[in-house]
Amino acid sequence: MRPISTLGPDEAKAIRFVLMDIDDTITTGGKLLAESYGALWRLHDAGLVVVPITGRPAGWCDLIVREWPVDGVVGENGAFAYYLDDGHRRESFHPAATIRNDAAVFSEMRQAVLEGVPESRVSKDQFSRLFDLAIDFAEEAPVLPLSDAGRIKTICEGFGARAKISSIHVNTWFGDFDKLSMAERFLAERFSYRSVEDIRSVMFFGDSPNDEPMFSHFPMSCGVANVRRYEAIMTSLPGFVANGEGALGFAEGVDYLLSVRKA
Ligand SMILES: [Mg+2]
Repeated sequence: MRPISTLGPDEAKAIRFVLMDIDDTITTGGKLLAESYGALWRLHDAGLVVVPITGRPAGWCDLIVREWPVDGVVGENGAFAYYLDDGHRRESFHPAATIRNDAAVFSEMRQAVLEGVPESRVSKDQFSRLFDLAIDFAEEAPVLPLSDAGRIKTICEGFGARAKISSIHVNTWFGDFDKLSMAERFLAERFSYRSVEDIRSVMFFGDSPNDEPMFSHFPMSCGVANVRRYEAIMTSLPGFVANGEGALGFAEGVDYLLSVRKA
């Protein structure tokens, strides 16, 4: 991981799309700080395409795409993208997102997790999800160790589901999609993004293992400093890293990117 302060002018000027995880990347202690929300506006005002890429639910994404300075949002770890088109909220579902979370297998899997990992619980935002089940291990108390998150993941994978660990939840779903595959589909559909030729036009900010598909694909990816907490359980680290944690690390990276572009 290179310090973000080593980002060169040619690298910075090639960026057209800025994508970011939400929890513990643009938030600190669960809050979207003025510094990071301001940074989203500065990216927007600089004419860059801004797209959060999150494990958060469809219900949150409806709000985000309507009220934040963004060009779209990918939610539920890549099940869909929401965007505004002439004032109308539209959606693009990943073709592999075919099994909704009201399917019977989800209740069996939920029961197995809650029985298998004491003190794990269904996340409070579950009611606004369409495709996944989110198990809370660290958003609310008691905060469980990462080893428990790993056990939750293993139980879900035993049902044939995919599972990813974020800084707060283990998200689990059926279907071959993730943050990366939906982000690339959305950019291609809406902005004529080309997967190979344009790869260095994307800068992605993230913090945890559910961001690994993005870190491994995009050379211009940047971790906020708290990504170091997960180094031992991650195989793909971002190309760059900020000094600051969470919201302040994101604002630091954005301001560096924008200042180098202007130089
Ligand atoms: Mg995160």
